[in-house]
Amino acid sequence: MSIVPTNVNYTYNLLRSNLISLNTIYPFLNIQIVGNSVMRKNIYVIKLGKGPNKVFYSGGIHANEWITSTLLMKFIEDYATAYVQDSSLYGYNVRNLFNSSSIYIMPMVNPDAINLVTGSLPTNSFAYERALSITNNFPSIPFPSGWKANINGVDLNLQFPAGWEQAKEIKYSQGFNKPAPRDFVGYGPLTEPESLAIYNFTLMHDFRLVIAYHTQGQEIYWQFQNFNPPNSLEIGEKFSQASGYRLSETPYNSSFAGYKDWFIQTYNRPRLYN
Ligand SMILES: [Zn+2]
Repeated sequence: MSIVPTNVNYTYNLLRSNLISLNTIYPFLNIQIVGNSVMRKNIYVIKLGKGPNKVFYSGGIHANEWITSTLLMKFIEDYATAYVQDSSLYGYNVRNLFNSSSIYIMPMVNPDAINLVTGSLPTNSFAYERALSITNNFPSIPFPSGWKANINGVDLNLQFPAGWEQAKEIKYSQGFNKPAPRDFVGYGPLTEPESLAIYNFTLMHDFRLVIAYHTQGQEIYWQFQNFNPPNSLEIGEKFSQASGYRLSETPYNSSFAGYKDWFIQTYNRPRLYN
């Protein structure tokens, strides 16, 4: 039986109902609420396994890249199915994986604006009206399909204390100096509850590796400034082979204040961004 659909817009309500269904059938899934969005929606983390090797995957931080939420939720379902069937996933026996690793997954970092982009935020709501007034200042960005930010018009992946001032300088000079559908860094680092949630959650754990899913560019970023975490290149190359995406140097204008930048700067450990 399939629970997570891959052919429909993935909304917050769908996420919630899929989590309830998955947890009923697969009670070994550990589902936690680790924060709330601006509009008080839950930010969920699903933990797969109980082993000491702790890794963290996140998706749906950019609203119009919500397909990464579908991807991670489908992965959770595939993992759970393989666990009960005692079978393998991509060559790994899942019961062995369950005992050796803990995979933490935050499938939807930005639920409010994902609802905006997927068409499930009522057009007569205050939040929709506000988004519309923000977008009117940026007429070249399609609405709502070009919306990456959270519902306050802050780009959540430009909120991290790793070169935030440089990001601010770059983005402000490009005209993103106020709430916008994308590229506004906010008035300070970690001002938004969603970026703060992923930041705090990361700090509470000692992750060996983090992966943040995006959709644009078909490429993988693995560095920050002159930090080259051990094994990062090698892991990136494996991902490149598996996905067909190229391993890229981050373009200068996108090289500050992202989640990966902060993680690499703080831990000098691999983090992939694709
Ligand atoms: Zn993105």
